[in-house]
Amino acid sequence: MNTVFPPAPSVTVPVVGTNAQFPVHRIYCVGRNYVDHAQEMGHTGREPPFFFMKPADAVVVAAPGCVTPLPYPGLTKNLHYEIELVVAIGTGGKNISVKQAESHIFGYAVGLDMTRRDLQNDMKAQGRPWCIGKGFDHSAPMGLITPKEAAGDISHAAISLQVNNVLRQNSTVEQLIWNMAETIAELSAAWELQPGDLIYSGTPAGVGAVVPGDTLKGCISGLTDIALKVV
Ligand code: MN
Repeated sequence: MNTVFPPAPSVTVPVVGTNAQFPVHRIYCVGRNYVDHAQEMGHTGREPPFFFMKPADAVVVAAPGCVTPLPYPGLTKNLHYEIELVVAIGTGGKNISVKQAESHIFGYAVGLDMTRRDLQNDMKAQGRPWCIGKGFDHSAPMGLITPKEAAGDISHAAISLQVNNVLRQNSTVEQLIWNMAETIAELSAAWELQPGDLIYSGTPAGVGAVVPGDTLKGCISGLTDIALKVV
């Protein structure tokens, strides 16, 4: 193909147990999907799900067994971590039913929805879009994708985040307000899901700020851990 400049390389994430890569299409994120986090953000935890997006090239792959550098972004003085279960879509579709949703999932990964909380709050206060607070470069670190058959019973998995070896977030996936099937059903009514879509499913309570030098370690039982150092 004759292009006026070289196309951007596609964003891919390694898949556990194979040499194959998962090509990323879009990144959808669910807001306030754990009751305790919704409450810490000033809400009841009973609101319907809502969505925002990050660019696909915001992914930072955190390879197992090493500490991956995570650049501290510009413009913020309040960079927050949010540990999240990432759902990787293998089969697309629109208006997917809750019953059918599971069959559209390829696998799962541990992710961080990094957030410039000060900018997000400014935008919220002004009724403006969140993208400067959520969709910045390097805002979507994640670990390798584990195929669902190898992940075990992810709906009851423990999810946790340590900052500098201190436990900051600790919950289980069953605490999700809108579970993965319900989220896929809702999302697919608004957008036609495609193979390669990632869904950051929301974070439990305990979000907070990190600064350069801090180390983040995220774990979800059954999946590959992630470790990153803010630089
Ligand atoms: Mn989030």
